[in-house]
Parts: sequence; C-alpha cells; structure tokens
Amino acid sequence: MKIICIGRNYPAHVEEMENDIPAEPLFFMKPDTALLIRNRPFYYPEFTSELHYECELVLRICKLGRHIAEKFAGTYYDAVGIGIDFTARDLQREAMEKGLPWERAKSFDFSAPVSRFVPVSEFRDANSVNFSLQLNGKVVQEGNSKDMIFSFGRIISHVSKFVTLRTGDYIFTGTPAGVGPVQIGDRLEGFLEGDRMLAVEIK
Ligand code: MG
Repeated sequence: MKIICIGRNYPAHVEEMENDIPAEPLFFMKPDTALLIRNRPFYYPEFTSELHYECELVLRICKLGRHIAEKFAGTYYDAVGIGIDFTARDLQREAMEKGLPWERAKSFDFSAPVSRFVPVSEFRDANSVNFSLQLNGKVVQEGNSKDMIFSFGRIISHVSKFVTLRTGDYIFTGTPAGVGPVQIGDRLEGFLEGDRMLAVEIK
C-alpha cells in the first residue's frame, strides 16, 4: 500500500506557513514503512531537532481506480480515520530552500501514525467532519473537512490522474492551522467528531 499526503489544503495553515494557496492539490507520498498503528509510541529521530505534528483526516481507498471523475470519487473511499503527518520541519525548510525533494523531512519510518477507521456511512456528512488534536491534554489543532481548499472528491480526482489508487491505500488530506513541535515525553491524542481515536507517546 501507499500513503498519499496532501499539502496546503486549509487556508489558515497555508497562512501560518507563509505559503501561497495552491492552484491545484499538492501531494507527496510516504512509503508503507511510515505507518505507525495501534497507538504504538513514536521514537524521536536523531536526524531532526524540530519534529512537528500535523493532524489530518485520512481516507481509506476501497477500490482500484485511475483517472477518477470527481463526481464518482465518493465511491472510492469507504472510511475515514485520523493520522499525524510527522514532519522534520528543519529538514523540510532546508529542502524547500534548496529546491530538493521532501522525503527526508516527511517520509521517514513511523512518520504516519494512523487510527482505526470509521465507515463513511456513520457520518452525517462526510464533507463536514470535525477533528482535533490535543498535545498533553490541551487542544492545539481543530479542523473541519468543509474548510478544505480541495474537497475529498477533488483530491481523489487529481491524484488519480497521476497515480493509480488501490484498495488499502491511504490519503492524508491536509492539516488545519496550529502545527507545532513535540518533545520527548509529550502525548498526542487525535479526535474524530469528539471520539478519541489516536494516542501517540513521544519517546
Ligand atoms: Mg501534512
């Protein structure tokens, strides 16, 4: 499986990073070795001194598709979860300044903690899903999918023009404002419609 991640998809986050609103969805990928499941702890890597959390809604792809029309995109994911797109911000900044790829900053081992998934049918409106992240019990990020610059449908349609989607792939759909650093000993908890879905201890 593969993990596709959308960048710059919430206006307030684009602003806090001092980036421009993209004209089309920006995406990058993490390998399957980035997955961290079952609320296992995350070990702070030695190659960064500025590890940031980015809490995101994650779509689970449920069938094979390429060149998917936006109007049919809703049939290509069957569940939504919570994930953290861990980012070595210092390495990302360096990559951006030099025009180099982001993999060192984004795609390292266990950089993608993912929660269990909730079937789409259990949401009142999959295009208006509330989620949040707490750091040591304090809310640091709050988002709703209706605030995305590019909808789930637009994301699936765009990405599948370039990359075939397969059953079991995940799409991280972008982070709202409030990203920030973690330290060893911190605890991150992700919530979906008020339900605690994800807990990650930084070790
Ligand atoms: Mg992200």
